[in-house]
Amino acid sequence: MPLALRVTLTAIVWSVAIATHLMLSVAAGGAIVLVSLLAIAATAWLWGGAVGLAVGVAVGAAEGDLIRTQLAIGALPELVRAGHLFVPVTFGLIGLALGSTSTLRRQIRVHRDASDRAQYDVLTGLLNRSTFEARLEEWMRTAAADRPPMFAVLFVDLDRFKFVNDTFGHDVGDHLLRSIARTLRDNVRDEDIVARVGGDEFVIALRGLRDRETAAVIAEKLVKLLSAPFDVDGRAITVSASIGIAVYPRDGESVTALTKSADYAMYAVKSGGKNAFNFSTAEMRVSQTRRLDLERALRNALHDNELELVYQPQVSLDDGRLVGLEALLRWNSRELGLVSPTEFIPIAEEAGLIVPIGHWLLREACFQIRTWQAYGFADLKVAVNVSTLQFRQPEFLKQVTEAVADSRIDPAMLEIEITESVLIDQFELAVQTLRRLDRMGVRTALDDFGTGYSSLAYLQRLPIGTLKIDRSFIAGLTLSPTGQSGSVVPIIDAMTAMGRKLGKTIVAEGVETEAQARYLAQIGVDRAQGYLYSKPLTAAKADALLRGLVRAGSAAKRPSSRPVTSNSDAIVLMRD
Ligand code: C2E
Ligand code: MG
Ligand code: MG
Repeated sequence: MPLALRVTLTAIVWSVAIATHLMLSVAAGGAIVLVSLLAIAATAWLWGGAVGLAVGVAVGAAEGDLIRTQLAIGALPELVRAGHLFVPVTFGLIGLALGSTSTLRRQIRVHRDASDRAQYDVLTGLLNRSTFEARLEEWMRTAAADRPPMFAVLFVDLDRFKFVNDTFGHDVGDHLLRSIARTLRDNVRDEDIVARVGGDEFVIALRGLRDRETAAVIAEKLVKLLSAPFDVDGRAITVSASIGIAVYPRDGESVTALTKSADYAMYAVKSGGKNAFNFSTAEMRVSQTRRLDLERALRNALHDNELELVYQPQVSLDDGRLVGLEALLRWNSRELGLVSPTEFIPIAEEAGLIVPIGHWLLREACFQIRTWQAYGFADLKVAVNVSTLQFRQPEFLKQVTEAVADSRIDPAMLEIEITESVLIDQFELAVQTLRRLDRMGVRTALDDFGTGYSSLAYLQRLPIGTLKIDRSFIAGLTLSPTGQSGSVVPIIDAMTAMGRKLGKTIVAEGVETEAQARYLAQIGVDRAQGYLYSKPLTAAKADALLRGLVRAGSAAKRPSSRPVTSNSDAIVLMRD
Protein backbone atom coordinates (compact mmCIF):
# COMPACT_ATOMS: atom_id res chain seq x y z
CA MET A 1 0.00 0.00 0.00
CA PRO A 2 1.50 3.40 -0.93
CA LEU A 3 2.65 5.54 1.95
CA ALA A 4 0.38 8.46 1.04
CA LEU A 5 -2.66 6.19 1.13
CA ARG A 6 -1.59 4.75 4.47
CA VAL A 7 -1.19 8.22 6.00
CA THR A 8 -4.56 9.31 4.64
CA LEU A 9 -6.31 6.19 5.92
CA THR A 10 -4.70 6.57 9.36
CA ALA A 11 -5.79 10.18 9.55
CA ILE A 12 -9.36 9.22 8.64
CA VAL A 13 -9.47 6.33 11.11
CA TRP A 14 -8.24 8.47 13.98
CA SER A 15 -10.43 11.45 13.13
CA VAL A 16 -13.48 9.21 13.20
CA ALA A 17 -12.22 7.50 16.35
CA ILE A 18 -11.56 10.76 18.22
CA ALA A 19 -14.85 12.30 17.14
CA THR A 20 -16.79 9.22 18.20
CA HIS A 21 -14.79 9.01 21.37
CA LEU A 22 -15.64 12.58 22.27
CA MET A 23 -19.31 12.05 21.58
CA LEU A 24 -19.49 8.78 23.46
CA SER A 25 -17.41 9.92 26.40
CA VAL A 26 -20.38 11.99 27.48
CA ALA A 27 -22.58 8.93 27.50
CA ALA A 28 -20.76 5.72 28.38
CA GLY A 29 -17.38 4.18 29.03
CA GLY A 30 -17.91 0.79 27.30
CA ALA A 31 -18.43 2.21 23.84
CA ILE A 32 -15.24 4.24 24.15
CA VAL A 33 -13.21 1.11 24.68
CA LEU A 34 -14.72 -0.45 21.58
CA VAL A 35 -14.06 2.59 19.40
CA SER A 36 -10.51 2.91 20.67
CA LEU A 37 -9.91 -0.78 20.09
CA LEU A 38 -11.06 -0.53 16.50
CA ALA A 39 -8.83 2.48 15.95
CA ILE A 40 -5.80 0.68 17.42
CA ALA A 41 -6.50 -2.39 15.34
CA ALA A 42 -6.76 -0.29 12.21
CA THR A 43 -3.49 1.49 13.01
CA ALA A 44 -1.80 -1.76 13.77
CA TRP A 45 -2.94 -3.11 10.44
CA LEU A 46 -1.73 -0.01 8.61
CA TRP A 47 1.52 0.51 10.51
CA GLY A 48 2.12 -2.84 12.15
CA GLY A 49 5.68 -3.25 10.93
CA ALA A 50 6.85 0.18 11.98
CA VAL A 51 5.23 0.05 15.41
CA GLY A 52 6.54 -3.50 15.94
CA LEU A 53 10.00 -2.33 15.02
CA ALA A 54 9.88 0.64 17.32
CA VAL A 55 8.59 -1.42 20.22
CA GLY A 56 11.04 -4.27 19.57
CA VAL A 57 14.01 -1.91 19.42
CA ALA A 58 12.86 -0.05 22.48
CA VAL A 59 12.30 -3.20 24.55
CA GLY A 60 15.48 -4.79 23.37
CA ALA A 61 17.57 -1.69 23.99
CA ALA A 62 16.04 -1.22 27.40
CA GLU A 63 16.98 -4.74 28.40
CA GLY A 64 20.38 -4.46 26.81
CA ASP A 65 19.53 -7.51 24.78
CA LEU A 66 21.23 -6.72 21.50
CA ILE A 67 20.44 -10.10 20.05
CA ARG A 68 16.74 -9.64 20.54
CA THR A 69 16.99 -6.14 19.09
CA GLN A 70 18.72 -7.43 16.05
CA LEU A 71 16.21 -10.24 15.87
CA ALA A 72 13.42 -7.78 15.97
CA ILE A 73 15.00 -5.73 13.25
CA GLY A 74 15.85 -8.73 11.19
CA ALA A 75 12.56 -10.50 11.78
CA LEU A 76 10.46 -7.52 10.98
CA PRO A 77 9.92 -8.14 7.27
CA GLU A 78 9.06 -11.76 8.16
CA LEU A 79 6.59 -10.68 10.82
CA VAL A 80 4.89 -8.20 8.56
CA ARG A 81 4.70 -10.65 5.73
CA ALA A 82 3.31 -13.32 8.01
CA GLY A 83 0.76 -10.86 9.36
CA HIS A 84 2.00 -11.14 12.95
CA LEU A 85 0.66 -8.03 14.41
CA PHE A 86 0.62 -9.16 18.01
CA VAL A 87 3.36 -6.75 19.19
CA PRO A 88 1.70 -3.48 18.19
CA VAL A 89 -1.74 -4.76 19.05
CA THR A 90 -0.63 -5.91 22.51
CA PHE A 91 1.04 -2.62 23.27
CA GLY A 92 -1.87 -0.76 21.81
CA LEU A 93 -4.21 -2.68 24.08
CA ILE A 94 -2.14 -2.00 27.16
CA GLY A 95 -2.13 1.72 26.35
CA LEU A 96 -5.80 1.60 25.66
CA ALA A 97 -6.55 -0.21 28.90
CA LEU A 98 -4.58 2.34 30.90
CA GLY A 99 -6.11 5.24 29.00
CA SER A 100 -9.67 4.08 29.29
CA THR A 101 -9.48 3.18 32.95
CA SER A 102 -8.20 6.68 33.70
CA THR A 103 -10.97 8.11 31.50
CA LEU A 104 -13.48 5.98 33.29
CA ARG A 105 -12.13 6.99 36.64
CA ARG A 106 -12.28 10.61 35.64
CA GLN A 107 -15.83 10.19 34.43
CA ILE A 108 -16.88 8.53 37.65
CA ARG A 109 -15.33 11.40 39.58
CA VAL A 110 -17.06 14.05 37.46
CA HIS A 111 -20.31 12.21 37.94
CA ARG A 112 -19.86 12.00 41.69
CA ASP A 113 -18.86 15.69 41.90
CA ALA A 114 -21.96 16.66 39.97
CA SER A 115 -24.23 14.68 42.22
CA ASP A 116 -22.47 16.08 45.31
CA ARG A 117 -22.95 19.55 44.00
CA ALA A 118 -26.60 18.82 43.46
CA GLN A 119 -27.00 17.61 47.05
CA TYR A 120 -24.50 19.43 49.21
CA ASP A 121 -23.45 22.98 49.86
CA VAL A 122 -19.93 23.23 48.45
CA LEU A 123 -18.63 25.65 51.07
CA THR A 124 -19.79 23.95 54.25
CA GLY A 125 -20.52 20.39 53.19
CA LEU A 126 -23.99 20.67 54.71
CA LEU A 127 -27.05 19.72 52.67
CA ASN A 128 -28.28 22.37 50.27
CA ARG A 129 -31.77 23.79 50.03
CA SER A 130 -33.21 21.36 47.50
CA THR A 131 -31.97 18.28 49.36
CA PHE A 132 -33.26 19.75 52.61
CA GLU A 133 -36.67 20.25 51.06
CA ALA A 134 -36.71 16.75 49.60
CA ARG A 135 -35.82 15.21 52.98
CA LEU A 136 -38.37 17.32 54.79
CA GLU A 137 -41.02 16.22 52.33
CA GLU A 138 -40.05 12.65 53.07
CA TRP A 139 -40.41 13.36 56.81
CA MET A 140 -43.87 14.76 56.23
CA ARG A 141 -44.91 11.61 54.38
CA THR A 142 -43.68 9.37 57.18
CA ALA A 143 -44.37 11.57 60.22
CA ALA A 144 -47.74 9.94 60.89
CA ALA A 145 -45.89 6.93 62.30
CA ASP A 146 -44.09 9.09 64.92
CA ARG A 147 -45.52 9.43 68.43
CA PRO A 148 -46.31 12.33 68.50
CA PRO A 149 -46.15 13.07 64.77
CA MET A 150 -44.23 16.27 65.37
CA PHE A 151 -40.99 17.84 64.22
CA ALA A 152 -39.53 21.33 64.17
CA VAL A 153 -37.79 23.51 61.63
CA LEU A 154 -35.32 26.07 62.95
CA PHE A 155 -34.45 28.94 60.64
CA VAL A 156 -31.05 30.29 61.68
CA ASP A 157 -29.82 33.64 60.38
CA LEU A 158 -26.54 35.20 61.47
CA ASP A 159 -26.85 38.74 62.79
CA ARG A 160 -23.61 40.39 61.84
CA PHE A 161 -22.29 38.30 59.02
CA LYS A 162 -22.30 41.05 56.41
CA PHE A 163 -20.22 43.17 58.73
CA VAL A 164 -17.67 40.36 59.16
CA ASN A 165 -17.51 39.80 55.41
CA ASP A 166 -17.14 43.50 54.64
CA THR A 167 -14.59 44.11 57.38
CA PHE A 168 -12.38 41.02 57.27
CA GLY A 169 -12.92 39.82 53.71
CA HIS A 170 -14.56 36.82 52.10
CA ASP A 171 -11.94 34.27 53.13
CA VAL A 172 -12.57 34.99 56.78
CA GLY A 173 -16.30 35.01 56.09
CA ASP A 174 -16.10 31.59 54.42
CA HIS A 175 -14.00 30.20 57.22
CA LEU A 176 -16.50 31.46 59.77
CA LEU A 177 -19.40 29.90 57.87
CA ARG A 178 -17.62 26.55 57.88
CA SER A 179 -17.04 26.77 61.64
CA ILE A 180 -20.64 27.70 62.24
CA ALA A 181 -21.81 24.84 60.03
CA ARG A 182 -19.68 22.45 62.09
CA THR A 183 -21.08 23.84 65.35
CA LEU A 184 -24.64 23.37 64.14
CA ARG A 185 -23.99 19.84 62.86
CA ASP A 186 -22.15 18.79 66.02
CA ASN A 187 -24.89 19.96 68.31
CA VAL A 188 -27.85 18.10 66.92
CA ARG A 189 -28.38 14.38 66.48
CA ASP A 190 -27.28 12.52 63.37
CA GLU A 191 -30.82 11.92 62.25
CA ASP A 192 -31.61 15.65 62.33
CA ILE A 193 -31.18 17.62 59.11
CA VAL A 194 -28.83 20.58 58.88
CA ALA A 195 -28.63 22.59 55.67
CA ARG A 196 -27.33 25.89 54.41
CA VAL A 197 -29.99 27.66 52.38
CA GLY A 198 -28.50 31.09 51.74
CA GLY A 199 -25.40 33.19 52.37
CA ASP A 200 -25.65 33.21 56.15
CA GLU A 201 -28.88 31.27 56.50
CA PHE A 202 -29.14 27.76 57.83
CA VAL A 203 -32.07 25.48 58.53
CA ILE A 204 -32.23 22.63 60.96
CA ALA A 205 -35.00 20.07 61.16
CA LEU A 206 -35.38 18.19 64.43
CA ARG A 207 -37.29 14.94 64.37
CA GLY A 208 -38.84 12.88 67.13
CA LEU A 209 -39.80 15.84 69.31
CA ARG A 210 -41.83 15.06 72.38
CA ASP A 211 -42.97 18.67 72.73
CA ARG A 212 -42.25 22.21 71.57
CA GLU A 213 -40.13 22.83 74.62
CA THR A 214 -37.47 20.46 73.34
CA ALA A 215 -37.07 22.62 70.22
CA ALA A 216 -36.80 25.69 72.45
CA VAL A 217 -34.06 24.05 74.52
CA ILE A 218 -32.05 23.25 71.39
CA ALA A 219 -32.60 26.71 69.91
CA GLU A 220 -31.48 28.30 73.14
CA LYS A 221 -28.35 26.18 73.18
CA LEU A 222 -27.55 27.16 69.57
CA VAL A 223 -28.13 30.87 70.22
CA LYS A 224 -25.70 30.65 73.08
CA LEU A 225 -23.09 28.69 71.11
CA LEU A 226 -23.27 31.02 68.13
CA SER A 227 -22.86 34.14 70.22
CA ALA A 228 -19.54 32.93 71.61
CA PRO A 229 -16.43 34.08 69.71
CA PHE A 230 -15.20 31.87 66.85
CA ASP A 231 -11.52 31.46 66.21
CA VAL A 232 -10.82 32.28 62.57
CA ASP A 233 -7.12 32.20 61.69
CA GLY A 234 -6.18 33.27 65.18
CA ARG A 235 -8.76 36.05 65.22
CA ALA A 236 -11.67 35.91 67.64
CA ILE A 237 -14.78 36.80 65.66
CA THR A 238 -18.13 37.25 67.31
CA VAL A 239 -21.43 37.07 65.51
CA SER A 240 -24.77 36.05 66.88
CA ALA A 241 -27.81 34.37 65.44
CA SER A 242 -31.54 34.87 65.30
CA ILE A 243 -33.57 31.67 65.19
CA GLY A 244 -37.20 31.21 64.22
CA ILE A 245 -38.94 27.94 65.07
CA ALA A 246 -41.90 26.41 63.24
CA VAL A 247 -43.44 23.16 64.41
CA TYR A 248 -45.04 20.60 62.11
CA PRO A 249 -47.98 20.30 61.55
CA ARG A 250 -49.15 23.29 63.64
CA ASP A 251 -47.24 26.02 61.76
CA GLY A 252 -47.43 24.62 58.25
CA GLU A 253 -48.29 21.38 56.55
CA SER A 254 -46.16 21.80 53.46
CA VAL A 255 -42.42 22.26 53.21
CA THR A 256 -42.86 25.79 51.87
CA ALA A 257 -45.39 26.81 54.50
CA LEU A 258 -43.39 25.36 57.37
CA THR A 259 -40.09 26.89 56.26
CA LYS A 260 -41.76 30.26 55.68
CA SER A 261 -43.28 30.18 59.16
CA ALA A 262 -39.83 29.58 60.63
CA ASP A 263 -38.44 32.37 58.44
CA TYR A 264 -41.11 34.85 59.62
CA ALA A 265 -40.43 33.90 63.23
CA MET A 266 -36.74 34.57 62.59
CA TYR A 267 -37.64 38.00 61.18
CA ALA A 268 -39.62 38.75 64.31
CA VAL A 269 -36.50 37.96 66.35
CA LYS A 270 -34.45 40.28 64.15
CA SER A 271 -36.81 43.20 64.59
CA GLY A 272 -37.05 42.49 68.29
CA GLY A 273 -33.33 42.92 68.88
CA LYS A 274 -31.69 39.74 67.45
CA ASN A 275 -29.55 37.14 69.21
CA ALA A 276 -32.53 35.11 70.42
CA PHE A 277 -35.11 32.60 69.24
CA ASN A 278 -38.85 32.77 68.77
CA PHE A 279 -41.71 30.45 67.86
CA SER A 280 -43.87 31.13 64.83
CA THR A 281 -47.32 32.55 65.61
CA ALA A 282 -50.49 33.00 63.60
CA GLU A 283 -50.19 36.83 63.83
CA MET A 284 -46.71 36.71 62.35
CA ARG A 285 -48.02 34.67 59.47
CA VAL A 286 -50.90 37.09 58.89
CA SER A 287 -48.66 40.16 58.92
CA GLN A 288 -46.14 38.51 56.64
CA THR A 289 -48.89 37.44 54.30
CA ARG A 290 -50.11 41.05 54.22
CA ARG A 291 -46.55 42.16 53.56
CA LEU A 292 -46.19 39.78 50.66
CA ASP A 293 -49.60 40.77 49.26
CA LEU A 294 -48.54 44.42 49.44
CA GLU A 295 -45.23 43.73 47.76
CA ARG A 296 -46.87 41.79 44.96
CA ALA A 297 -49.53 44.47 44.36
CA LEU A 298 -46.95 47.25 44.63
CA ARG A 299 -44.96 45.74 41.78
CA ASN A 300 -47.80 46.67 39.44
CA ALA A 301 -48.91 49.87 41.14
CA LEU A 302 -46.80 52.18 39.03
CA HIS A 303 -47.69 50.49 35.79
CA ASP A 304 -51.39 50.40 36.71
CA ASN A 305 -51.49 54.11 37.61
CA GLU A 306 -52.45 53.45 41.20
CA LEU A 307 -49.94 55.92 42.63
CA GLU A 308 -50.68 59.55 43.07
CA LEU A 309 -49.11 62.59 44.68
CA VAL A 310 -51.00 64.78 47.11
CA TYR A 311 -49.73 68.14 48.29
CA GLN A 312 -49.76 69.52 51.80
CA PRO A 313 -49.38 73.29 52.12
CA GLN A 314 -46.69 74.94 54.22
CA VAL A 315 -47.23 78.44 55.50
CA SER A 316 -44.91 81.14 56.74
CA LEU A 317 -45.33 81.66 60.47
CA ASP A 318 -44.40 85.31 59.96
CA ASP A 319 -47.35 86.31 57.89
CA GLY A 320 -49.33 83.18 57.14
CA ARG A 321 -48.71 83.22 53.40
CA LEU A 322 -48.39 80.00 51.49
CA VAL A 323 -44.70 79.33 50.98
CA GLY A 324 -44.58 75.75 49.91
CA LEU A 325 -46.18 72.36 49.53
CA GLU A 326 -44.91 68.92 50.42
CA ALA A 327 -45.61 66.22 47.85
CA LEU A 328 -46.77 63.04 49.60
CA LEU A 329 -47.29 59.72 47.93
CA ARG A 330 -50.62 57.93 47.97
CA TRP A 331 -51.39 54.42 46.82
CA ASN A 332 -54.95 53.52 46.05
CA SER A 333 -54.66 49.86 45.25
CA ARG A 334 -57.46 48.27 43.24
CA GLU A 335 -56.89 45.09 45.19
CA LEU A 336 -56.08 46.30 48.70
CA GLY A 337 -57.68 49.74 48.90
CA LEU A 338 -55.96 52.83 50.24
CA VAL A 339 -52.61 51.90 51.77
CA SER A 340 -50.72 54.29 54.04
CA PRO A 341 -47.24 55.37 52.93
CA THR A 342 -45.93 54.48 56.37
CA GLU A 343 -46.91 50.91 55.54
CA PHE A 344 -45.95 50.60 51.88
CA ILE A 345 -42.85 52.79 51.66
CA PRO A 346 -40.73 50.53 53.88
CA ILE A 347 -41.88 47.58 51.76
CA ALA A 348 -41.08 49.45 48.56
CA GLU A 349 -37.64 50.15 50.01
CA GLU A 350 -36.99 46.55 50.97
CA ALA A 351 -38.16 45.28 47.61
CA GLY A 352 -36.07 47.87 45.74
CA LEU A 353 -39.27 49.29 44.22
CA ILE A 354 -38.73 52.70 45.76
CA VAL A 355 -36.15 53.52 43.09
CA PRO A 356 -38.49 53.43 40.06
CA ILE A 357 -41.35 54.83 42.14
CA GLY A 358 -39.14 57.64 43.45
CA HIS A 359 -37.98 58.42 39.94
CA TRP A 360 -41.54 58.62 38.72
CA LEU A 361 -42.73 60.84 41.55
CA LEU A 362 -39.80 63.21 41.18
CA ARG A 363 -40.77 63.83 37.57
CA GLU A 364 -44.46 64.02 38.43
CA ALA A 365 -43.74 66.69 41.07
CA CYS A 366 -41.50 68.65 38.69
CA PHE A 367 -44.18 68.77 36.00
CA GLN A 368 -46.67 69.91 38.64
CA ILE A 369 -44.25 72.64 39.71
CA ARG A 370 -44.07 73.69 36.06
CA THR A 371 -47.80 74.45 36.10
CA TRP A 372 -47.59 76.40 39.34
CA GLN A 373 -44.52 78.25 38.20
CA ALA A 374 -46.53 79.43 35.21
CA TYR A 375 -49.14 80.87 37.60
CA GLY A 376 -46.44 83.16 38.94
CA PHE A 377 -45.57 81.46 42.22
CA ALA A 378 -41.90 82.00 41.78
CA ASP A 379 -40.92 81.67 45.43
CA LEU A 380 -43.05 78.66 46.17
CA LYS A 381 -41.16 75.49 47.08
CA VAL A 382 -42.42 72.00 46.48
CA ALA A 383 -40.80 69.41 48.70
CA VAL A 384 -40.28 65.87 47.43
CA ASN A 385 -39.42 63.06 49.85
CA VAL A 386 -36.51 60.98 48.67
CA SER A 387 -35.83 57.66 50.29
CA THR A 388 -32.30 56.84 51.41
CA LEU A 389 -32.01 54.04 48.90
CA GLN A 390 -32.95 56.34 46.04
CA PHE A 391 -30.67 59.13 47.29
CA ARG A 392 -27.72 56.76 47.28
CA GLN A 393 -28.29 55.50 43.75
CA PRO A 394 -25.51 56.65 41.41
CA GLU A 395 -28.17 57.85 38.93
CA PHE A 396 -29.97 59.99 41.47
CA LEU A 397 -28.35 63.32 40.57
CA LYS A 398 -28.81 62.66 36.88
CA GLN A 399 -32.48 61.93 37.48
CA VAL A 400 -32.92 65.23 39.32
CA THR A 401 -31.07 67.14 36.59
CA GLU A 402 -33.21 65.55 33.91
CA ALA A 403 -36.48 66.06 35.77
CA VAL A 404 -35.65 69.75 36.28
CA ALA A 405 -34.50 70.20 32.68
CA ASP A 406 -37.39 68.29 31.08
CA SER A 407 -40.02 70.14 33.08
CA ARG A 408 -38.17 73.44 32.56
CA ILE A 409 -38.68 74.56 36.15
CA ASP A 410 -36.67 76.94 38.25
CA PRO A 411 -34.62 74.44 40.32
CA ALA A 412 -35.11 76.63 43.39
CA MET A 413 -38.77 75.60 43.40
CA LEU A 414 -37.77 72.01 44.09
CA GLU A 415 -36.82 70.96 47.61
CA ILE A 416 -35.43 67.47 48.18
CA GLU A 417 -36.35 66.07 51.59
CA ILE A 418 -34.09 63.43 53.02
CA THR A 419 -34.05 61.76 56.42
CA GLU A 420 -31.16 61.35 58.80
CA SER A 421 -30.73 57.73 57.71
CA VAL A 422 -28.89 58.90 54.54
CA LEU A 423 -26.13 60.14 56.82
CA ILE A 424 -25.54 56.81 58.53
CA ASP A 425 -22.40 55.01 57.30
CA GLN A 426 -22.08 57.20 54.22
CA PHE A 427 -21.86 60.72 55.60
CA GLU A 428 -19.28 61.96 53.10
CA LEU A 429 -21.23 60.63 50.14
CA ALA A 430 -24.36 62.34 51.45
CA VAL A 431 -22.49 65.62 51.85
CA GLN A 432 -21.20 65.35 48.29
CA THR A 433 -24.63 64.68 46.85
CA LEU A 434 -26.15 67.54 48.86
CA ARG A 435 -23.42 69.90 47.62
CA ARG A 436 -24.12 68.93 44.03
CA LEU A 437 -27.83 69.56 44.53
CA ASP A 438 -26.97 72.93 46.02
CA ARG A 439 -24.79 73.76 42.99
CA MET A 440 -27.71 72.88 40.74
CA GLY A 441 -29.82 75.39 42.66
CA VAL A 442 -32.09 72.70 44.14
CA ARG A 443 -33.11 73.18 47.81
CA THR A 444 -32.64 70.51 50.45
CA ALA A 445 -34.37 69.71 53.74
CA LEU A 446 -33.72 67.30 56.57
CA ASP A 447 -37.00 65.57 57.41
CA ASP A 448 -38.08 64.13 60.77
CA PHE A 449 -35.30 66.10 62.43
CA GLY A 450 -34.57 64.98 65.96
CA THR A 451 -35.75 61.39 65.61
CA GLY A 452 -32.70 59.74 64.11
CA TYR A 453 -28.99 60.09 63.97
CA SER A 454 -28.91 63.67 65.25
CA SER A 455 -25.43 64.72 66.18
CA LEU A 456 -24.33 68.27 66.52
CA ALA A 457 -21.02 67.59 64.80
CA TYR A 458 -22.63 66.37 61.58
CA LEU A 459 -25.28 69.07 61.58
CA GLN A 460 -22.68 71.78 61.45
CA ARG A 461 -21.05 70.19 58.40
CA LEU A 462 -24.26 69.37 56.58
CA PRO A 463 -24.92 71.47 53.49
CA ILE A 464 -28.68 71.48 53.94
CA GLY A 465 -31.04 74.43 53.84
CA THR A 466 -34.00 73.40 55.97
CA LEU A 467 -34.63 71.42 59.14
CA LYS A 468 -38.07 69.95 59.63
CA ILE A 469 -38.79 69.38 63.31
CA ASP A 470 -40.52 66.03 63.54
CA ARG A 471 -44.26 65.81 64.10
CA SER A 472 -43.77 63.78 67.29
CA PHE A 473 -42.21 66.78 69.04
CA ILE A 474 -44.95 69.14 67.93
CA ALA A 475 -47.58 66.63 69.06
CA GLY A 476 -46.06 66.81 72.53
CA LEU A 477 -46.48 70.55 72.53
CA THR A 478 -49.67 70.67 74.57
CA LEU A 479 -50.14 74.36 75.15
CA SER A 480 -52.88 75.97 77.09
CA PRO A 481 -53.98 79.45 75.94
CA THR A 482 -52.38 80.89 79.05
CA GLY A 483 -49.01 79.27 79.04
CA GLN A 484 -46.89 76.42 77.87
CA SER A 485 -46.49 72.91 79.12
CA GLY A 486 -44.99 69.67 77.93
CA SER A 487 -41.52 68.25 78.33
CA VAL A 488 -40.76 68.73 74.63
CA VAL A 489 -40.66 72.51 74.99
CA PRO A 490 -36.95 72.78 75.87
CA ILE A 491 -36.11 70.37 73.04
CA ILE A 492 -38.09 72.31 70.45
CA ASP A 493 -36.60 75.56 71.77
CA ALA A 494 -33.07 74.18 71.55
CA MET A 495 -33.51 72.65 68.09
CA THR A 496 -34.92 75.92 66.77
CA ALA A 497 -32.21 78.06 68.35
CA MET A 498 -29.46 75.80 67.11
CA GLY A 499 -30.91 75.53 63.60
CA ARG A 500 -31.25 79.29 63.35
CA LYS A 501 -27.69 79.84 64.55
CA LEU A 502 -26.54 77.47 61.81
CA GLY A 503 -28.50 79.52 59.30
CA LYS A 504 -31.12 76.88 58.51
CA THR A 505 -34.77 77.47 57.75
CA ILE A 506 -36.86 75.79 60.45
CA VAL A 507 -40.11 74.06 59.57
CA ALA A 508 -42.47 72.53 62.12
CA GLU A 509 -44.43 69.49 60.95
CA GLY A 510 -47.80 68.37 62.24
CA VAL A 511 -49.02 71.70 63.60
CA GLU A 512 -52.62 71.12 64.65
CA THR A 513 -53.56 73.97 66.98
CA GLU A 514 -53.44 77.76 66.93
CA ALA A 515 -51.63 77.67 70.26
CA GLN A 516 -48.86 75.50 68.82
CA ALA A 517 -48.53 77.83 65.83
CA ARG A 518 -48.32 80.88 68.06
CA TYR A 519 -45.68 79.33 70.24
CA LEU A 520 -43.59 78.18 67.30
CA ALA A 521 -43.80 81.62 65.69
CA GLN A 522 -42.72 83.16 68.93
CA ILE A 523 -39.56 81.07 69.27
CA GLY A 524 -38.57 81.77 65.67
CA VAL A 525 -39.74 78.75 63.66
CA ASP A 526 -40.04 79.94 60.06
CA ARG A 527 -42.64 77.73 58.49
CA ALA A 528 -45.38 75.36 59.60
CA GLN A 529 -47.19 72.46 58.04
CA GLY A 530 -50.08 70.57 59.55
CA TYR A 531 -53.78 69.93 59.79
CA LEU A 532 -54.29 73.39 61.28
CA TYR A 533 -53.69 74.76 57.80
CA SER A 534 -54.61 71.91 55.58
CA LYS A 535 -54.53 68.18 55.17
CA PRO A 536 -52.70 66.96 52.08
CA LEU A 537 -54.71 67.92 48.97
CA THR A 538 -55.07 66.10 45.70
CA ALA A 539 -53.18 67.71 42.83
CA ALA A 540 -56.48 69.03 41.49
CA LYS A 541 -57.44 70.59 44.82
CA ALA A 542 -53.98 72.04 45.39
CA ASP A 543 -54.16 73.47 41.88
CA ALA A 544 -57.58 75.00 42.60
CA LEU A 545 -56.17 76.53 45.76
CA LEU A 546 -53.30 78.13 43.89
CA ARG A 547 -55.52 79.33 41.09
CA GLY A 548 -57.78 80.88 43.72
CA LEU A 549 -54.81 82.75 45.08
CA VAL A 550 -53.93 83.95 41.59
CA ARG A 551 -57.49 85.16 41.07
CA ALA A 552 -57.34 86.96 44.38
CA GLY A 553 -54.42 88.77 42.80
CA SER A 554 -52.04 87.73 45.48
CA ALA A 555 -49.66 85.53 43.58
CA ALA A 556 -48.89 86.25 40.00
CA LYS A 557 -45.71 87.96 39.04
CA ARG A 558 -45.01 89.31 42.47
CA PRO A 559 -41.57 89.92 43.79
CA SER A 560 -40.71 86.97 45.92
CA SER A 561 -40.50 88.96 49.15
CA ARG A 562 -44.13 90.03 49.01
CA PRO A 563 -46.79 87.84 50.66
CA VAL A 564 -48.65 85.54 48.34
CA THR A 565 -51.76 85.59 50.41
CA SER A 566 -52.93 86.28 53.88
CA ASN A 567 -53.05 83.47 56.38
CA SER A 568 -56.82 83.64 56.67
CA ASP A 569 -57.28 83.46 52.89
CA ALA A 570 -55.08 80.45 52.70
CA ILE A 571 -56.82 78.70 55.56
CA VAL A 572 -60.26 79.38 54.17
CA LEU A 573 -59.26 78.06 50.78
CA MET A 574 -57.35 75.11 52.07
CA ARG A 575 -59.99 73.98 54.49
CA ASP A 576 -62.48 73.56 51.64
P1 C2E B 1 -43.17 62.89 56.29
O1 C2E B 1 -42.35 63.17 55.09
O2 C2E B 1 -42.65 63.35 57.58
O3 C2E B 1 -44.58 63.50 55.98
C1 C2E B 1 -45.38 64.11 56.90
C2 C2E B 1 -46.47 63.20 57.31
O4 C2E B 1 -47.18 63.81 58.37
C3 C2E B 1 -47.49 62.95 56.22
O5 C2E B 1 -47.99 61.65 56.41
C4 C2E B 1 -48.57 63.96 56.54
O6 C2E B 1 -49.83 63.62 56.02
C5 C2E B 1 -48.57 63.87 58.05
N1 C2E B 1 -49.09 65.08 58.64
C6 C2E B 1 -48.95 66.34 58.21
N2 C2E B 1 -49.54 67.20 59.05
C7 C2E B 1 -50.05 66.50 60.06
C8 C2E B 1 -50.79 66.82 61.25
O7 C2E B 1 -51.06 67.96 61.54
N3 C2E B 1 -51.12 65.80 62.07
C9 C2E B 1 -50.82 64.52 61.77
N4 C2E B 1 -51.20 63.59 62.62
N5 C2E B 1 -50.14 64.17 60.65
C10 C2E B 1 -49.76 65.15 59.80
P2 C2E B 1 -48.09 60.63 55.24
O8 C2E B 1 -48.50 61.31 53.99
O9 C2E B 1 -48.90 59.50 55.74
O10 C2E B 1 -46.60 60.19 55.03
C11 C2E B 1 -45.95 59.49 56.00
C12 C2E B 1 -44.50 59.34 55.65
O11 C2E B 1 -44.34 58.53 54.50
C13 C2E B 1 -43.81 60.63 55.30
O12 C2E B 1 -43.45 61.33 56.43
C14 C2E B 1 -42.64 60.14 54.53
O13 C2E B 1 -41.65 59.68 55.40
C15 C2E B 1 -43.21 58.97 53.80
N6 C2E B 1 -43.58 59.43 52.47
C16 C2E B 1 -44.72 60.01 52.04
N7 C2E B 1 -44.64 60.28 50.74
C17 C2E B 1 -43.42 59.89 50.33
C18 C2E B 1 -42.72 59.91 49.09
O14 C2E B 1 -43.21 60.42 48.07
N8 C2E B 1 -41.47 59.38 49.03
C19 C2E B 1 -40.90 58.85 50.14
N9 C2E B 1 -39.66 58.34 50.03
N10 C2E B 1 -41.50 58.84 51.32
C20 C2E B 1 -42.75 59.35 51.43
MG1 MG C 1 -41.41 64.63 54.41
MG1 MG D 1 -41.47 64.37 58.42
